[in-house]
Amino acid sequence: MHNIVLFGPPGAGKGTQSQKLIAKYNLVHLSTGDLLRAQIAEGTELGLKAKKLMDEGLLVPDEVVIGMIGSALATNTQASGFIFDGFPRTTAQAESLDRLLARHHTTVACMIALEVGEEELVKRLLERGKTSGRPDDQDETKIRRRVTVYNTETAQVASYYAAQHKFHALNGIGEIETIFQQISALIDQHKAAQAEAPAAATNEVKA
Ligand code: ADP
Repeated sequence: MHNIVLFGPPGAGKGTQSQKLIAKYNLVHLSTGDLLRAQIAEGTELGLKAKKLMDEGLLVPDEVVIGMIGSALATNTQASGFIFDGFPRTTAQAESLDRLLARHHTTVACMIALEVGEEELVKRLLERGKTSGRPDDQDETKIRRRVTVYNTETAQVASYYAAQHKFHALNGIGEIETIFQQISALIDQHKAAQAEAPAAATNEVKA
């Protein structure tokens, strides 16, 4: 099993790259944002609670998203790997993900971060807001709050994976196809390392 965490601030291109990666590597895409929006669309109690926080650009409680990821892992036992998009967003989520994956006898192979500056993010998200229908993409104040929440609560998750020698950062500004090739090259390196030394769980790949 090959599991990848795609990381970066809102608007960095994680969703776009995930769509290309799941097709190339036959991975199951797990986006906590998408899972939460599905709950909202179904009108569940969880969805109603989450919507208030999401519309304000704040994080949903850890136990809510961890529960959703746990269920998704349990219902996709035949998957050849997962791409986590928008999760983990806190160190507590990262620790839970390790525990959940261990239950399925697997690990995170690598985290790949897409780096994009705030002004470009705001521009992209306001543009996306014209068609996405997402309330959190239509208000500049909320967009900037999401970027601040990313910087203060989420960015530190990179250190968690760096400590495990699994962290890689890429420039998220450029052609979608070029960035896709760069991400693919990193995944291919990890896959090759895993094939050579499965027990080492790909810790030794150089950035
Ligand atoms: P974006 O990356 O553009 O912010 P997402 O679809 O990943 O969009 O997330 C939208 C919102 O859903 C977030 O602002 C947050 O409120 C909530 N959310 C998504 N994933 C998580 C998570 N792992 N932990 C807490 N809240 C989350």
